[in-house]
Amino acid sequence: MNNKTIVMSVAACCMAVSSLSLAQQRVTGPIVIQGAMPVEAERFAQRLDNPQELDIGGWRFWRGTVDGYPVVVSETLKGMSNASAATAIAATQFHPVAIINQGTAGGHDPALKVYDIVLGKYSVNLGAFKTPRKQMGEGSDPLQWKPMDLLASKGSAGEDKTPHTIRKFPADAQLLSVAESVKESYKKGNVVEGVIGSADMWNSELDRIHAFHSNYQTSVEEMETASAAQISAAFNIPFVGIRILSNNITNQGAYDPQTGLACQDYVYQVVKAYIAKVQGQKPE
Ligand code: SAH
Repeated sequence: MNNKTIVMSVAACCMAVSSLSLAQQRVTGPIVIQGAMPVEAERFAQRLDNPQELDIGGWRFWRGTVDGYPVVVSETLKGMSNASAATAIAATQFHPVAIINQGTAGGHDPALKVYDIVLGKYSVNLGAFKTPRKQMGEGSDPLQWKPMDLLASKGSAGEDKTPHTIRKFPADAQLLSVAESVKESYKKGNVVEGVIGSADMWNSELDRIHAFHSNYQTSVEEMETASAAQISAAFNIPFVGIRILSNNITNQGAYDPQTGLACQDYVYQVVKAYIAKVQGQKPE
């Protein structure tokens, strides 16, 4: 072996090592599972192997493994601000390969029953609107409000002359298809793809719910998914929202908090399927 061959084989060896570690980094970050309330997060945390509880700025996280793969459960707390902060913390602290936001939701679609599960093909923010101008005494009619896309430009969102269309936060295609792939295992209801609407609101006005369903095709409403999806997209982290109906006033579906446990059981199956897939892609 002459000197030139030695230099070349050393270079080839180092290149192989560095590209391998990059590829491994891409498939070894944890999967983050988010739930807003204890009843939506603790059951999953209890199913982790070797769990370690962390408190970061008042948000609880449990770090552990499922089938030997790292998983972090995050209790986001309720509402859009809490969900976005918990997502940003998860992104910077854990560098996840995927984020799943899951939990309970209220039905907008009369065809969906309590215990049915919606895999969010995208989510929308149902709290971002511009009202028409009205004089004193003219009242307020939320059905006239126009959606306001807060990410459309850096200028004034309200004065923006472009058409007011609602921003859609899409699910990652691979995560969505893995979430679909285990639906036969679920026996408590149907599993469908749909649209998740989020806002710091609990809507109980049937006309307003009907308007959201027909204008934006919302299947369910809750208070976190669109916010977590927005922040995950900002960090380029694949995301999907998975929500179980805990109530549906469009068809007299009474609130059942136990649905939060069933949703975690479903998402546990999704996570196992995702891990099997990711581990199949892992370089030897
Ligand atoms: N009945 C509970 C409600 C919790 S607040 C209580 O009084 O404590 C709402 C939480 O449940 C949020 O995290 C939200 O994501 C979810 N949720 C379930 N159904 C909802 C609905 N119909 N509208 C809005 N949020 C809903």
